[in-house]
Amino acid sequence: MKSLLSSAPYRGRFAPSPTGPLHLGSLYTALVGCCEARRRGGVWLVRIDDADRLRCRQTHADSILRTLETHGLWWDENVLFQSHRDDIYRAALERLTAGGRVFPCTCPRRELAASGQVYPGRCRARYPSPPSGEHALRLRVDDAVIAFDDRLQGRIDQDLGSEVGDFVVRRRDGIPAYHLATVVDDAEQGVTEVLRGVDLLDSTPRQILLQERLGLPRPDYCHIPVLTDRGGIKLSKQAGARPVDANTPSENLWTLLILLGFAPEPGLFGAQPADILDWAVAHWDIRRLPAGQGIDVSGLAA
Ligand code: GLU
Ligand code: ZN
Repeated sequence: MKSLLSSAPYRGRFAPSPTGPLHLGSLYTALVGCCEARRRGGVWLVRIDDADRLRCRQTHADSILRTLETHGLWWDENVLFQSHRDDIYRAALERLTAGGRVFPCTCPRRELAASGQVYPGRCRARYPSPPSGEHALRLRVDDAVIAFDDRLQGRIDQDLGSEVGDFVVRRRDGIPAYHLATVVDDAEQGVTEVLRGVDLLDSTPRQILLQERLGLPRPDYCHIPVLTDRGGIKLSKQAGARPVDANTPSENLWTLLILLGFAPEPGLFGAQPADILDWAVAHWDIRRLPAGQGIDVSGLAA
């Protein structure tokens, strides 16, 4: 199915979670997203995914934004902060609930872990009215099968019933689930293409189902390979990735472009970030990204 949005002016976004300073893996995602948006004459937005107040810090959000600026990765329009948008997520949850496919779940974490990846549907018909204690809210997926064409990863099909099961849309601590906040905000920001790491490919069918249930437009999707260590593990804060050195933005951009298979003119080495980015945009072609799901960066000097 051709997306209704594909003829609209391009609007992309970068949505970091401020659980720590920016590391090379996230700088790479930002660079690819920014170059793609600029190459297509579009808009590049930044959103701070800080709905989870327990894990996120304003100081990390500030430092991420500063690091983007230092690298010349300027965003268009105002930054959207998820932590300011509780009412909007609550309204979306109410709309889903009114559709009759949301139910409270009180399964203890231990039991869920024991029953594996797919939610077994235990609470689906358990509560005629919401229980008073802490509970999550799950969306019934029924027999939804979602298919979409990813620009880099090709055709993706997922049978949500057998592969995922009813999934959480509001956590038991009251925080909106990542999938819910993401689709609400992508729609609000008028995003025409969600460009992000391939580690999130598996989330996309859930997000598409939510768009359908909420009557939101479906953007295009482009899942890019992630930077990994020698063992193929994605660079992440949890896996101990070091913060980007904000004092060497030109070198960082240079390193990333080489990793991505570009051959910047030698005369640009050490140039201002803005000049390196202009060169990158002028030579940009996302199809030149290395094929596959991961780019091993273990060879980079520590
Ligand atoms: N905030 C998410 C992350 O840092 C990305 C969300 C998205 O791009 O949909 O991994
Ligand atoms: Zn349950």
